[in-house]
Amino acid sequence: MKTAIILLGPPGAGKGTQARLLSESFHLAHISTGDMLRTAIKDGTEEGGQAKAFIEAGLLVRDELVEALVKERVSQPDCEYGFIFDGYPRTLIQADTLQKYLEHDYIPALTIGISIPDEVLIARLGSRWMCPNCNRTFSERLSSSPIKSLSCDKCDVRLINRADDTVEVVSARLKIYGEQTAPLIQYYQERGTYVPVDGDQQPAKIFYAIRDAVKERMGFVSTEKIKGSAE
Ligand code: ADP
Repeated sequence: MKTAIILLGPPGAGKGTQARLLSESFHLAHISTGDMLRTAIKDGTEEGGQAKAFIEAGLLVRDELVEALVKERVSQPDCEYGFIFDGYPRTLIQADTLQKYLEHDYIPALTIGISIPDEVLIARLGSRWMCPNCNRTFSERLSSSPIKSLSCDKCDVRLINRADDTVEVVSARLKIYGEQTAPLIQYYQERGTYVPVDGDQQPAKIFYAIRDAVKERMGFVSTEKIKGSAE
């Protein structure tokens, strides 16, 4: 049976990192609309062309465009056991569209809300690097070895700063999050499928908190542990 985990939280909360860890542990497809849009821009597709200016200004891309990308993505073979949504839904319209799809296909869903103070987010986003190939992010704060060499340990390509991680665009993204995405917390609370998690702690700790919530609420067991981290 398919399952959906929705990761909700402001930019910089660590949704991408957690989605990757959860995807490995639960064998669910990692669906990041931000990554899909950045790939579309890099590939020069029509969707990418339409999205570019919005992303660079820190604004949301049109619901219809994002929903079309997601609709196509959820039908791919790696979604056989379900998905982790990272950065989607981001508006009440997107949440309603997703809800209808999940209900229609009898797919149970849990929303994990990763919360974190604004000042921590701003510091994180200002010191973050990304691999343009695999989209993994690296933070200077955690100073993992690839940052010192400025290349991704997996892909061996140079890390870049995201175009929308500048101070001005970050504050626009946080404002939009508060206005358009934060209302989804109440949306999922009302449906009884919302679990809050403290995002201001080490990634492994956040992962264990999410994994425990998923196990408790959805009843499945992860198959892998994070290398080198003590529980
Ligand atoms: P972050 O969570 O750090 O803001 P993302 O990679 O999720 O980063 O998103 C980057 C940008 O892509 C957003 O600021 C927005 O412009 C666009 N985007 C991503 N997902 C969506 C979505 N579901 N709806 C509308 N725009 C989106």
